[in-house]
Amino acid sequence: MYNFQSDNDLDIIAHLGDDYERHNDAVIPPVYLTSLHVTPKEAIGGLPRQYVYGRVNNPTVELLEKKIAALERAERALAFGSGMAAITSCLLLNLASGDHVVAVDTAYGPTRMFITDHLGKYGVEHTFIRGDDVGQFRDACKPNTKVFYLESPSSMLFLLQDLKAVAELAKERGVVTMIDNSWATPLYQKPLTLGIDISIHTATKYIGGHSDIIAGIAAASGEIIGRLEYVRSFYGSILGPMEAWLAVRGLRSMPLRVREHGRSALEIARRLEAHPMISMVRYPGLESHPQHELAKRQMTGFTSPLSIEIKCDTDAAREFVRRLKCFNVGPSWGGFESMVSMPSPLCQAPTSDTQPPQPQGALVRMHIGLEDTETLYADLKGSLDKI
Ligand SMILES: *Cc1c(COP(=O)(O)O)cnc(C)c1O
Repeated sequence: MYNFQSDNDLDIIAHLGDDYERHNDAVIPPVYLTSLHVTPKEAIGGLPRQYVYGRVNNPTVELLEKKIAALERAERALAFGSGMAAITSCLLLNLASGDHVVAVDTAYGPTRMFITDHLGKYGVEHTFIRGDDVGQFRDACKPNTKVFYLESPSSMLFLLQDLKAVAELAKERGVVTMIDNSWATPLYQKPLTLGIDISIHTATKYIGGHSDIIAGIAAASGEIIGRLEYVRSFYGSILGPMEAWLAVRGLRSMPLRVREHGRSALEIARRLEAHPMISMVRYPGLESHPQHELAKRQMTGFTSPLSIEIKCDTDAAREFVRRLKCFNVGPSWGGFESMVSMPSPLCQAPTSDTQPPQPQGALVRMHIGLEDTETLYADLKGSLDKI
């Protein structure tokens, strides 16, 4: 499509930045598998050229960045070799020795471990909070607080933060806000429109969607992304062009996939909730979720990861998982295939005054894939009935 102009999400995903005229009218822009763009001799000494060296930028990586920036209603986005590279780069960009970060204690385990085990080495202090009440952010704030780190909904326990309220508080205090927005995808939650400064995704999950790449991306203002691009070139953490091409390919079908993941997950969540062996289903799309109203206010849809608490001990829960035929065991989600994981002791939340209530039963997280809903539920029910 030439001269494409639309701010509709589906149109952005389908066509924005595809630039047929630049690529011999190819429907799919080619992958620029190149480390270098040479400078014509007559351009020596002139203005810096757009593309020079692949550690700095790449046209295929930029296509992904353009589409995600538009979806996030951000001025720019920047792609990284993994979600963790995006997260750690954004934290390092905004924190220096003597600073303090307030982070939610139900965030992705490796993110919490980076904050406790790595940032501490550089003299960055931290406070973990549950984050489901903006007052906790206010109480945790110190004169040297520079960053609020959010993840909403959060991994494993699926707690939310009120993004608008937290962003307002942060603006009063001159604090930078960043969110891991991976669960909701850039389709269902647009944190920048609620005042959050940086929205980060692991593109390994829903954006890639086919369990074949590791990738990450951050979206923010042109000013923030300009500084982030500068450090990305030092870290050498730019996404590879082949992975960027696969991420764009995955993105093209993401709206259809997440709709189906969400439909199936809600159906299974409702049925599991009614099962006598389940004490709780943690899924923001359920009316019984304590923050369901907030979830509906700040998200326009629900994807699939959820967790269940089974009325049994850990050993019996392991047996439950071993009996499942349709769910593989693995620490990832967002792919076409169903997956379960049990929380690793390594990734337990650090202690904080506002720690989430400990699960009543054995916690199992699951990602509902694109297999048939009835097949998946029969598998889960069959294994639960045997406990
Ligand atoms: C997987 C995951 C990440 C890390 O992404 P990678 O691409 O594996 O580095 C970050 N946040 C959440 C919520 C995740 O599930």
